[in-house]
Amino acid sequence: MQVYNTDLHIHSPHSIAVSQSLNLDTMVDTCKQKGLHVLGTGDILQPEWLKYMQHNLQKNSDGSYQYNDIFFILQTEIEDKENIHHVVLFPDFKSVVEAQKKLHSYSKNLFDEWGGRPRVNLTPADLVDIITDLGGMIGPAHAFTPFKAIFRQNQYSNLEDCYQDALKKVSFIELGLSANTNLADRLECLKDISFLSNSDAHSQSPRSLGREFNRIEIDNPSFDEIKSALLRKNSRKIILNVGLHPKLGKYYNMFCYKCRRRIIFKKADKASSSIFSKYRIKPEFVEYYSNDLKSARTDFINTVAKGKMICPACKEKLNKNYKIKLGVSERIEIIASYKKSTHPRHRPPYINAIPLIDIIRSIKNIKSSTSKTVLNAYDKIISQLGPEYEILIDLPTETIKNYNKNIGEIIEAMRNGEISYTPGGGGTYGAIKVDLDV
Ligand SMILES: [Zn+2]
Ligand SMILES: [Zn+2]
Repeated sequence: MQVYNTDLHIHSPHSIAVSQSLNLDTMVDTCKQKGLHVLGTGDILQPEWLKYMQHNLQKNSDGSYQYNDIFFILQTEIEDKENIHHVVLFPDFKSVVEAQKKLHSYSKNLFDEWGGRPRVNLTPADLVDIITDLGGMIGPAHAFTPFKAIFRQNQYSNLEDCYQDALKKVSFIELGLSANTNLADRLECLKDISFLSNSDAHSQSPRSLGREFNRIEIDNPSFDEIKSALLRKNSRKIILNVGLHPKLGKYYNMFCYKCRRRIIFKKADKASSSIFSKYRIKPEFVEYYSNDLKSARTDFINTVAKGKMICPACKEKLNKNYKIKLGVSERIEIIASYKKSTHPRHRPPYINAIPLIDIIRSIKNIKSSTSKTVLNAYDKIISQLGPEYEILIDLPTETIKNYNKNIGEIIEAMRNGEISYTPGGGGTYGAIKVDLDV
């Protein structure tokens, strides 16, 4: 058996807000920089993207698809009639064409130039039936995000209510950037299902493509082998999930639906009775103060969950009543079955990672992740020390420190879980807090 680093959910230039320079060559370049071996094609039902892939991917005798040194899985994301996103993987081009035929009459945008992520007028269960009848695999995408996800606020709190009889055909859930295994394993309904950590990339930038991936032990990188791994059959399995620290994701923390301020809690300096009157409005946050942080926060979250918490910033500044919405972490608290994460025996470890681009940005104190200075520094460290994942996960920190003391120290702190974070939320990514003694 061999080990493959796989990212099974990306998009194509035929989805909205995707880089137009994303193509097989740029994908392959980034895969090599990151240390990825297998990549989803993204948007495989979109006719032009499908044609491009059919023309360029070579099929090997073991059933895997290849372009240069990187392997590909035919993949798309589909939105159902309940606005839930699903990750879909196909065994071969024949099944993709069959899926186009079957889904066409349920979809207005399947054949559109911008239909990369098509919407179909089907229930989750009906969609699962169609995909699995064609030999494909399907599971909910970014399962906990506040928008377009199975477990979003006021939607489902377990898998069965959503998929009903089709549940046994669902092969995985995708955690999404703002969740990890520790958070997701507080739900009893997920104990038998495999977790995927995928990037959902909208660009070939190394900040985006492969920012999350799954390390899988299989015989070869074909659909059949990956299917066995997700179903944990014939000793095939996912042996590691690597993803952003959930606080770095865009939806970890609760936020105002309108002004997108994140709601955070801080310890009060003086005794205060009611948290609801003690807050401060900042450009990106509403900060609540209390002496009893834990119970104040719990009360607050319960009120948000009932859809009854008004944003104080919008109330003061616009005199409008806009609601606070749960982030991924608070939504999980509301629907959790266990107080603490309870991992089933099959669950692989999860590494909370910080993209190397973010580490370089924070050291150089540069906000943009597309800054030339940052990208040059990234290219340089990769050419000296090897692929990003080796640097982040495997390389001795002494070796990294010899290359650059600050980068080595941040990676050491990351591996020891000693980094503190400003949580992301409402569509804004989180950030790391670093104190550098330079
Ligand atoms: Zn999605
Ligand atoms: Zn607001």
